[in-house]
Amino acid sequence: MHPHLESVLWTDDQISRRISDLAAQISADFLACSPPPVFIGVATGAFLFLADLVRKIDLPITVDLIRAESYGSGTVSNEAPTISFGLKVDIKDRHVILVEDIVDTGHTLSRVSEHLKSKGASSVSVCTLLDKPTRRKVNLQLVGDEKYYRGFECPDYFVVGYGLDFAELYRNLPYIGVLKSEHYE
Ligand code: 5GP
Repeated sequence: MHPHLESVLWTDDQISRRISDLAAQISADFLACSPPPVFIGVATGAFLFLADLVRKIDLPITVDLIRAESYGSGTVSNEAPTISFGLKVDIKDRHVILVEDIVDTGHTLSRVSEHLKSKGASSVSVCTLLDKPTRRKVNLQLVGDEKYYRGFECPDYFVVGYGLDFAELYRNLPYIGVLKSEHYE
């Protein structure tokens, strides 16, 4: 374990097994979707999750990235995240699966989902690796067949690893753990 961590919450094996389950569920749910869905990862935090998830999806999907800035270098979420780079793929009339590292207050998810709908997506489902439901400020309203998938429910700690950073560090750890407070206070 990295010396800056207090504990590991999910090992790389546990993450990998959970992603296999999510991918099987999504592949089954979107089997009849035509054209197949577009997976859009929210950079930078979702880069590893997106890469591991799409490699286990058994459909001829399209993949793209969007960037939403929410934290700067702190640990307090921003209420008005900005979208700082847009999409390459045309998502008009496409079903989108938005791939997130973690949903905390819900501001980023709502902002990005609105943005994707404004670009003409016919639906925006969500697949987040981690979810901190106790911290939610904005609840995303799913409509029609839109789905919400989550890997793990995360307790209210600041976690790093497997794509998640503090001040752009720790993203490359293969597991997810709790950062010791002395490293961010
Ligand atoms: P929200 O807008 O839902 O409050 O925050 C979403 C974003 O905040 C995530 O995409 C992630 O970048 C960041 N975030 C929220 N909680 C954590 C956490 O525990 N650790 C890290 N590293 N980032 C977090």
